[in-house]
Amino acid sequence: ETFADLGLGEGILRAVADAGYTKPTPIQQKAIPYVLMGRDILGCAQTGTGKTASFTLPMIDILAQGRARARMPRTVILEPTRELAAQVAENFDTYGKYNKLTMALLIGGVSFNEQEKLLDRGVDVLIATPGRLLDHCERGKVMLTDTKVLVIDEADRMLDMGFIPDVERIVGLMPVIRQTLMFSATMPPEIKKLADKFLMNPKEMAV
Ligand code: AMP
Repeated sequence: ETFADLGLGEGILRAVADAGYTKPTPIQQKAIPYVLMGRDILGCAQTGTGKTASFTLPMIDILAQGRARARMPRTVILEPTRELAAQVAENFDTYGKYNKLTMALLIGGVSFNEQEKLLDRGVDVLIATPGRLLDHCERGKVMLTDTKVLVIDEADRMLDMGFIPDVERIVGLMPVIRQTLMFSATMPPEIKKLADKFLMNPKEMAV
């Protein structure tokens, strides 16, 4: 199976070829068609499996339709650490080079002011750690009412780090009708319970 077989757009296929990828990884083969279909996903996959591209690639395609509005990101990606958030942002830069995407990064160590300017102009993709995102929401700088796709990445680490109450508050600020993708390296019962709460009829997959 090739990347083209998965239904991805022209610009993404070119960016992926530029990156030197010849073949989608198993999680990419399983997840990408369902993300493009609009399905919720519960993916059990570790770092190193190509998990990040399994959601960033189809999200770039989804974002090709429509336009960003001020302070209302269309897609939101939650990461447990600033390092992971920065890596996901790099992925969007790499894979989105032929698609014009706007992005903001709300993590510790990145100045509020600059990111807020970006948000004011409207961003397609917002990548954040939960606490930082809530700060911006409480200050009225971000509204989550237009979120079409939410990614909860590394859910088991979010749980270990005590971030789930923040994640629940964030989800509570989003529309009930949305697409949610949840990834976790492990699937303990607590994660399954969160999946029941956050996902609607998810397609489950493991690699
Ligand atoms: P991840 O699991 O998302 O952290 O990705 C691990 C590494 O695999 C990253 O450095 C990616 O650049 C790389 N990668 C992702 N997808 C592919 C692919 N289909 N072929 C080769 N390398 C890939």
